[in-house]
Amino acid sequence: MKLKRVVKVEAERDPAFALWISQTVGGERIRHCLQCGLCSGSCPLSLYMDYTPRRLMHLSREGFKEEVLSSYTIWLCTSCYACMVECPKKINITQLMYALKTRAMQEHFYPKRFAIPVLAREFSRMIRGSGRITESRLVMRVFVKTAIWRLLGFSKLGLRLFRTGRMRLAREKVEKRSDIVTLLNAVDTTRKELAR
Ligand code: SF4
Ligand code: SF4
Repeated sequence: MKLKRVVKVEAERDPAFALWISQTVGGERIRHCLQCGLCSGSCPLSLYMDYTPRRLMHLSREGFKEEVLSSYTIWLCTSCYACMVECPKKINITQLMYALKTRAMQEHFYPKRFAIPVLAREFSRMIRGSGRITESRLVMRVFVKTAIWRLLGFSKLGLRLFRTGRMRLAREKVEKRSDIVTLLNAVDTTRKELAR
């Protein structure tokens, strides 16, 4: 991923987003950020991110919503917690990454053909729809929505997995799908209440 170098101006700020960041779980201490860069230095993935964790912290607290929510950085974060361990201000960077991912999905800001958010969305849809993941269908959906031409390259492997019974096409589902939906709805309601 190419590191983005952009000049931002005051007029592009979204103060409401900056306020949300400072009140959301993980962002409570963001205004204490020293911009020391220890998070970026300790992050094993920062090399591949378009904004390093330090830059993302800065853009977030200043309210540059579009850059933050459409960044690849939040999707490349593997939740390893290395940045949090090193942060001298004990900022919960990892948790903030989760909050940013959720918001990016809700507002359709995520990079549309990037496999990680597409996988997260399809995974969630599949669980809501049948209560279980059917791996073959999930993989195909992700390829179709991100890089359909790459499916051909995996066709031999896919056939071998089907032949040996390691993958099935039949849709897997739980008996009481309504229980899963009730559970997920309860989680959604609680999350919305906490966000208020
Ligand atoms: S380590 Fe903490 S204080 Fe330093 S730049 Fe990163 S978030 Fe800010
Ligand atoms: S939790 Fe995410 S941002 Fe922090 S060091 Fe690990 S990969 Fe990087």
